[in-house]
Amino acid sequence: MSKKPFSLQTSLIHSHGFDKETGAVSTPLHHATTFHQQDFDQYGTYDYSRSGNPTRETVEETIAELEGGVRGFAFSSGMAAISTSFLLLSSGDHVLVSEEVYGGTYRMITEVLTKFGIEYSFVNMKDLHEVACSIKHNTKVIYMETPSNPLLNITDIEGVVKLAKANGCLTFLDNTFMTPLLQRPISLGVDVVLHSATKFLAGHSDVLAGLAVTGNEEIAGKLAFLQNSFGAVLGAQDCWLLLRGLKTLHVRLKESSESAYKIAAFLEKRSEVEEVYYPGLSYHPGREIQVRQAEGPGAVLSFRLKGEEEAKQLIQNVNIPVFAVSLGAVESILSYPSRMSHASMPKAERERRGITDGLLRLSVGLENVDELIKDLQNGLDSIQKINRKNVINL
Ligand SMILES: *Cc1c(COP(=O)(O)O)cnc(C)c1O
Repeated sequence: MSKKPFSLQTSLIHSHGFDKETGAVSTPLHHATTFHQQDFDQYGTYDYSRSGNPTRETVEETIAELEGGVRGFAFSSGMAAISTSFLLLSSGDHVLVSEEVYGGTYRMITEVLTKFGIEYSFVNMKDLHEVACSIKHNTKVIYMETPSNPLLNITDIEGVVKLAKANGCLTFLDNTFMTPLLQRPISLGVDVVLHSATKFLAGHSDVLAGLAVTGNEEIAGKLAFLQNSFGAVLGAQDCWLLLRGLKTLHVRLKESSESAYKIAAFLEKRSEVEEVYYPGLSYHPGREIQVRQAEGPGAVLSFRLKGEEEAKQLIQNVNIPVFAVSLGAVESILSYPSRMSHASMPKAERERRGITDGLLRLSVGLENVDELIKDLQNGLDSIQKINRKNVINL
């Protein structure tokens, strides 16, 4: 199917075709961990499910096709995909990381890789000059995440790739917020694309999964070896759930992104909201780069209220979004980064990065957008009430 000139929207539905033996239109779920070998001297395609499983292979071929890579790999979580990819590094190597990196990735780099002699430094990935100055003689990987979490800052992917290639480094990019429908980093020169498929790709808050894709055969060979050696593969049942979720990715992301835009436009008009962070807004600082390198701004936005009291008031007065970590699901998810994703970061460090106590992140789901806006309006109105009460108490 990959040879045919179909859009990603169509590929999502048909890329894994139907089962050759039975014609089943849903990929058969192969629970088998071991496979009978017909020939004493020559073994078949599958022998043991850690090394290869037909259901997992369908997921891996699908994500490789969607990202435009040569090979994909499915892992038991986003962190398993990211951590296994870091095993491409060796003791003495250095990794240059975006300072706005996912908390689990931050922990892996600072507390685990360091035990194996892998060095790191954080950099403001928005600033190409700073990136260029931070590359060291032993830098082997430049690690990007764009848009960043939770402030939706944009990295110039091609700019970083150019610097990496000039210095003989690989580039990794966490594409969780965009998915291949909105951003295809391999076409921009990135070596390894990573996903928490737990989010938009699976989309229903019911499966943990991770993916890695590369467009380079040599890296693919190494990742296959590492996936089998480390062994954090995605189970067959979860592969099936991920395939099921992927079929509706296009329609989910389109609807959620349209709603996110409307919500961002609503929020920026409200006096209680000090700032809205969404790459779809005309004044977003990374907007020009985002328009150039991605097909859309996505379905996640953040906004800043005055402080903790206001954030608490809003959360207690909205009824539709769930108040939780995670994102990219059918249900809208409202989260509070300073106590959730970034709780482990010292307050001063957090605030320096703009993650203040008034900051909220909203991953927009598939609810009726007018009802979502009404719900947020109620939440914001309740803040006005406490503010008025405070004035009266004075
Ligand atoms: C959730 C997330 C991860 C980690 O994925 P898990 O599936 O939770 O292990 C990595 N990167 C980003 C951007 C995420 O949102």
